[in-house]
Amino acid sequence: MKYLNTFGLLAICICLIVGSNIIFYSPIHLYDLITGLQSADFSITWPGIRIFIEPFYSFAFYILALNRDFYKPVVISWILWVLGIIFVYCLIYKKSVKQMLVNMAYSVMILFTVFSFVALIPIPGPKLEKPKGYIAVDIHSHTLRSHDNVAPESISLKAHLWQGFDAFFNTEHNHSKGFLTFPADTRYKIVYPGMQMRTKDGVSVILLSQKEFNGYDYENMSLEDLMKKAHENNMFVVMPHWWKWHEHTFAKLKDIGIDGFEIYNCGYRYFDKNEQKSMISFAKENNLTMFGVTDWHGWGYMSDVWTVFEGNTLENIEIQLLKKPKTKVLLYRREQSGSVIRFIFEPFYAFYYYISNVTLKYLISFTIWIIAVFLIFKSRFFKYIKKYLPVFMVVVCVLGAIYFCIIVRPFTDTNTIVMKSVIPALAGFCVLWLILCKSNNNCL
Ligand SMILES: [Zn+2]
Repeated sequence: MKYLNTFGLLAICICLIVGSNIIFYSPIHLYDLITGLQSADFSITWPGIRIFIEPFYSFAFYILALNRDFYKPVVISWILWVLGIIFVYCLIYKKSVKQMLVNMAYSVMILFTVFSFVALIPIPGPKLEKPKGYIAVDIHSHTLRSHDNVAPESISLKAHLWQGFDAFFNTEHNHSKGFLTFPADTRYKIVYPGMQMRTKDGVSVILLSQKEFNGYDYENMSLEDLMKKAHENNMFVVMPHWWKWHEHTFAKLKDIGIDGFEIYNCGYRYFDKNEQKSMISFAKENNLTMFGVTDWHGWGYMSDVWTVFEGNTLENIEIQLLKKPKTKVLLYRREQSGSVIRFIFEPFYAFYYYISNVTLKYLISFTIWIIAVFLIFKSRFFKYIKKYLPVFMVVVCVLGAIYFCIIVRPFTDTNTIVMKSVIPALAGFCVLWLILCKSNNNCL
């Protein structure tokens, strides 16, 4: 009877998953943010690994496509739902208070581990497929050479190629040292020199260059002076995430000499729709180039934006930008609600977000995973998994800390986040898993 109920529950889950897909299916289409129109000539493909790790992959895409200001409510909502489910489970199965607390701690640790894996494990995101004659370019990305980045140039290179970019600019914060860390045979072919320089006006600008330059020559300058000097050196100057500061009107920026605007930035997706429309029409009227950028910092490897223009991959990309090509900012994204109700029911929203867009083959993989997890949970092996997972995680945290210490060593003059945040966080995780390891063994 017990097993009938258990497998009955599994059957209901599967029916819900398949049924929801049939009812809510409404796939996301790639569209040009500038025109608002679908771009039938362009498409995205998913990497081969996705089919094997579908639940983790789709969870990663959902997390990495979130607006930056959604992270806090989303994480809180997930934690509360997990705690609530464990609470109800422990009440039904009459677990002791101590067992309940251990189970709660265990589940929250697993949740945080999954969030960390999403941010740190290099799994390829969707790839842009484009017609011949188009170049996909990312004009704003960082490496470990920036103070707040956690991934080296080798992964930046891979991540951009995985996602279908033909070229990208290395734009470290306030210096230009990152460019030379890239292999010589990739420079001026795939990666180009640039910089995100802070000005005395309290905003930063993206400088794109056709040749190497010394970023420190542009320090402590007003926006106006910096722009002048950059233009004297044939640079292309772009205003990044203007909506982060709301500093200077579009007209003032144009008068100073800005060459283009970011109209979408994966690090700062919360651009007000009306402001975004005004920026797009202003840029159109004044022949300013528009970009969507990854602003990649090594946290996650999935972009949902690509800037493309008709050009030639053999010619220097910055020189082509100076000719002011007409860009398309292709977005693979569904508008996300920021309502309180959404965050209260966040796991259900995430499920809806997933199920309304997933195609059959990935849905089959997802369903197989649900069945497998369910069977493992019910099997006698589960208690061994529960017992040894903390040990495994301690090893992962230690290896992770060693890896980050090694990769950041050459860059400690400019990188601060790895030593100040990543290593302490891994050490903290390690201690928490060790505590759990002990409590868990006592509680089995
Ligand atoms: Zn940046």
